[in-house]
Amino acid sequence: MHSSDCFDRNCVKISRFTLLPTSFPRNEFEKATSIQATLQKLMHKVAYNQDFLNNTLKSTIKVDDFTAELFKIYKTVYEEGYAQSYSLGLLRSDYLLNGDLEIKQVELNTISSSFAGLAPLVSNLHKFVLSELGHHDKTKNLPENYSCVQYAQGLIDAWTLYKNTEAVILFIVEEITCNICDQRAIEFEIRRVNPQIRVIRRTFADLIKQAQLRPNKELIVGNHIVAVAYYRTGYQSTAYTSNDVWSIRLLIERSRAIKCPSIQYQLAGTKKVQEALAQPGVLKQFLDESEITKVLKIFTGLYALELNEAGDKAVAMGISQPEKYVLKPQREGGGNNVYGTDIKIVLETLKNSEERNAYTLMEYIDAPLQNNYFLGPNNDKNTLVDLISELGIYGIIIGDENDIKVNKQVGHVIRTKPFGENEGGIIAGAGGLDSPYLI
Ligand code: ADP
Ligand code: MG
Ligand code: MG
Repeated sequence: MHSSDCFDRNCVKISRFTLLPTSFPRNEFEKATSIQATLQKLMHKVAYNQDFLNNTLKSTIKVDDFTAELFKIYKTVYEEGYAQSYSLGLLRSDYLLNGDLEIKQVELNTISSSFAGLAPLVSNLHKFVLSELGHHDKTKNLPENYSCVQYAQGLIDAWTLYKNTEAVILFIVEEITCNICDQRAIEFEIRRVNPQIRVIRRTFADLIKQAQLRPNKELIVGNHIVAVAYYRTGYQSTAYTSNDVWSIRLLIERSRAIKCPSIQYQLAGTKKVQEALAQPGVLKQFLDESEITKVLKIFTGLYALELNEAGDKAVAMGISQPEKYVLKPQREGGGNNVYGTDIKIVLETLKNSEERNAYTLMEYIDAPLQNNYFLGPNNDKNTLVDLISELGIYGIIIGDENDIKVNKQVGHVIRTKPFGENEGGIIAGAGGLDSPYLI
């Protein structure tokens, strides 16, 4: 076990889950699963389109240091030429139901998508609970879920593509890994399917000491050659505690290892890119007409706050009716967004400054409430509570600029949070894992 693995009180929170599955309209669930491959193709094309990333992010990187640093790494590797042409994407597209019970995309995560390892356990637990309650016949309404097996397979597929049976899969992990069980589930599945594949876990601090690039761009960690570098950290600015961490990120990106995700995929997953894709006509350069019609149905209003007339209008909308929007900075991992009257305060402060380009204004999705019980070691008063649920659809994509080799939808999760909590961060302790009961 890695010395920083943690099973203390902070981590107990993540095992929180609902007693029962959450009702979800079957046709909307199927809409979400069937559109996943199209969304992944879209992400892939964006990630490999330098002009689009440049144009979309140029005003944001002037004012947002974190995105600017990521972009600097992207520019360096792009100008050098990618040492590894393939990227591995283990993605999760997230949805809330709106007032008409239609799915609307909250965001698409391209880095460190969590809970694919644990989600099938929750699906199975809910089947068990329904059976115990005498409703075995109803377990057919809980869709099969193979996200753990499939995420492991995605990493194995990338490892196979690297064509060096001695090489390892590197999990890059936080100093204190609260979500350890989720990561280990995927690791153990890799080892079960192919015990020949070694998985190593290292923090950025470890890598500063142990990682090197060979002249042929092989990534070496200690005595190992790395075939696949899988980031379970690096999505939040707090992971980059020093310039040495940024240097090690650059070193990994320059290497021949297949990155999950590559830097260009991480940038494709920013809220700013999501906002750009929702503007009229933009999808045309990436998708065909019938795909565009389907994708636009799941998008909700996303407004740029650039210093122009449209941006001024968006700022005025946010100030006059803040309860209708969420204000999002270019951040990941939950807990960063601005809601309600705070939007008014932030927008009035930013008003006509360039700083507002760091944010995206998104329509608030007013999701329906359901009742359920949360179970877990720390809480739990066994009371029925009002909850809001967010569906996540997992998928795998492997490809390079010219060719997509693998592109499939592979499973799902529901993350449920108490009504009134703006952000459902499970690691932060507010939410819990859940699964869909299709109706
Ligand atoms: P992050 O990358 O930090 O997870 P998200 O865009 O997923 O950022 O926002 C975090 C949380 O905020 C979501 O899980 C959801 O609970 C809430 N949220 C985000 N966007 C909206 C929205 N448009 N309407 C309602 N709630 C939202
Ligand atoms: Mg995210
Ligand atoms: Mg999210």
